[in-house]
Amino acid sequence: MKVGILGNGQLGQMLETSITDLKDIEVSLYDLRAHTDEALEAFIASVDILSYETENIPAHIVTLLEPHADKLYPGLNALKTFQNRLLEKNALRNAGIATAEFRAVNSLEDVHTAVQELGLPIVMKTTTEGYDGKGQFVLRTPDDAAPAWNSIGNRELIAEAFVPFERETSVIASRDRDGNIVVFPMTENVHHEGILRYSLYPAPALSQEKAEQAERYIRQLAESLDYVGTITLELFDTEDGLVGNEVAPRVHNSGHWSIEGTEASQFRNHMLAITGKSLGATEPKFSSVAMLNVIGEETPAEKAESIDNAYRHSYGKEARPARKLGHVTVTGNTDAERDATITELNALMPEGIWPPNH
Ligand code: AMP
Repeated sequence: MKVGILGNGQLGQMLETSITDLKDIEVSLYDLRAHTDEALEAFIASVDILSYETENIPAHIVTLLEPHADKLYPGLNALKTFQNRLLEKNALRNAGIATAEFRAVNSLEDVHTAVQELGLPIVMKTTTEGYDGKGQFVLRTPDDAAPAWNSIGNRELIAEAFVPFERETSVIASRDRDGNIVVFPMTENVHHEGILRYSLYPAPALSQEKAEQAERYIRQLAESLDYVGTITLELFDTEDGLVGNEVAPRVHNSGHWSIEGTEASQFRNHMLAITGKSLGATEPKFSSVAMLNVIGEETPAEKAESIDNAYRHSYGKEARPARKLGHVTVTGNTDAERDATITELNALMPEGIWPPNH
């Protein structure tokens, strides 16, 4: 069986390597940056199953995919929904998941209306093509309306009420073609300057109630869309429970720990799901795991290779400030053991951005 993945970045590469033992599946990655319509048509014709490592696929390419919807997993509906923050928020609501109050914004007048109706602060975002905090503006006073519209406006925006969250978390699940779902344990995700720095399993001090709420949410979401593959739900953890923020119709950076940390990783389960195979177990293999992103500079992370219980993954990318170049997974029998290894690693990093105690 031939599987084609649109995108050849680190996610595509990790999807490919997750099933190298399955000799009946042949994976090829399509470089979206080198796209021509002819090359894409030929690529699609050459595979039995088509998937994607990113939902940021330009509209004209999505149009090209439409006649091939029968081999696309996750399906066109999921792709289109999670490309657009307004459709995404509506899908979350339809699946019974709490979200921030939100409004569509298409003019400066709409910004003023949103300020009146939602109160301040407001987070304004472009509905498409935003990632890692790009295309966003936080309005704190009514005077911010015009600067916000001038900096990211003149296109469709979404205004969201600011969610006073205590921390950010995510839950990842995989759903197969028969509707079976496996859910990965939640992580706490720590960002800095809009980029994920590290994820912790278990999410510290997570109540049973919230763990169950997250599992219920991701199941409802996947079922409501008849979703096939791995799906990620980013959740704000608030005093009043979990609030859905964003969905990725794909494997996610906060799930990279599953390569070492769970029986079947998010990558493997995605590939199993889309090829019609049975899903693997998502039980953690360690009591405590962290995923640490290597950002901007890779040399210090090379030293991780000499540290026990630290597993370095390099994406083979050219170093550039703020670019994700790799990650390191750290495992432990206890949080303290894991955190001691993180401290050892952190001493090697120029910015020291992996504090295990926070
Ligand atoms: P997003 O691209 O939607 O994940 O947003 C990037 C980051 O902005 C999130 O990880 C949050 O830290 C913050 N953020 C986004 N939306 C909101 C919101 N409605 N309330 C508070 N913070 C937000």
